Amino acid sequence: MKIIAPNYILVGDTLLKNQAVAYDKTIQKIDSLDALTTLYPDARVEHLREHSLLMSGLINAHVHIEFSANKTALSYGDFMPWLYSVIKNREELMEGEATQSMEKAVDAMLQNGITTFGAISSHGMDLDVCQKAKQNVVYFNEVIGSQATMADALFADFLSRLDASKEISREGFFPAVAVHSPYSVHPVLIKKAINIVKNEGLKLTAHFMESKAEREWLDSSQGDFKTFFKELLKQEHCVCDAQEFLSFFDDVPTLLTHAVQTNEEERETIARHKHTIIHCPISNRLLGNPTLNIKDLNDKNIPWILATDGLSSNYALDLFEEMKLSLFMHPSAPLLLFAKSLIHSVTKGAADALGLNTGEIKEGKNADFIILDLEKEPNDELAIHLILHRYNISNVYINGSKEI
Ligand SMILES: [Zn+2]
Repeated sequence: MKIIAPNYILVGDTLLKNQAVAYDKTIQKIDSLDALTTLYPDARVEHLREHSLLMSGLINAHVHIEFSANKTALSYGDFMPWLYSVIKNREELMEGEATQSMEKAVDAMLQNGITTFGAISSHGMDLDVCQKAKQNVVYFNEVIGSQATMADALFADFLSRLDASKEISREGFFPAVAVHSPYSVHPVLIKKAINIVKNEGLKLTAHFMESKAEREWLDSSQGDFKTFFKELLKQEHCVCDAQEFLSFFDDVPTLLTHAVQTNEEERETIARHKHTIIHCPISNRLLGNPTLNIKDLNDKNIPWILATDGLSSNYALDLFEEMKLSLFMHPSAPLLLFAKSLIHSVTKGAADALGLNTGEIKEGKNADFIILDLEKEPNDELAIHLILHRYNISNVYINGSKEI
């Protein structure tokens, strides 16, 4: 048993003072230091510096580790030119120094207080890096392919990647499934993948309604995707529309990423089937996509969480930076309330969506927490200050083990 004694502990949006935490792999008890040392006389006690704050480790539910080599190669500003630039540069980004850039990305997340991440893996190239990562990892093997003739081969490839990820038996590693998007995956593949998800109780994610091109292609097989599909895949029509796509997910609460181009009917479906939306504001801004309508999600009681997306559409894997940008991209949201929602979204909200026993400083939860060096005693507006000031993260603990 270990005891850690910070000055302050953030529990949900409540601040505790002069309390300590006893933990091993999980949080055992929160009480005064005196009470804990009496209860656990043999425990090692760690005293922290003045104005230290202990809070839950952050959870980044959507990141593409495989594209971590990008810094200036991809074209920003508009979704379709970006997509063409991904296709053109894909191989180059995944060769050479790719492994080092993936390790660097995972380490940067650790330094930024991210104790759990959801890796969307297109090729399985990041499996080794994710296995060795200090963090908890939900490893989403992605299924992709819109052509029926290729379905069997693509599904076999997906299955072999999924099987490889199931071979990994380390604490905090969870194999899972990603369906790339409604425009890029044939319904046959979607149904087969979701069957596996249901039979094996895996977590499921999908990109949904990210761009205007996607909206137009799914609505009418028109728009910028028309040329793309005709030239690259000799395909004239979309493989399913948005409602049909959503209907495949009716029985499985799914993490739907972006959803910035959804219509009212789709959001009602999303609410009814208890899906969660992943909000990636920096990625959306860089690729010329709209900003998520969070007010409408709140009105419909649709849970939403914040994530960074990959370095293919971001300059950092830093949820503090992401929260700050989101705060400024939603100027009509009430400041303090929205700041608290953002912090909730990268802690308890994300843990709930991923089905993990973390994201809270609470007895019985995994001991995933970070220590921030505040400069003064916090006041009622702590949530705003945490987002604006990007305090130094002096320690990071994952499943009770000190990683920084
Ligand atoms: Zn993505």
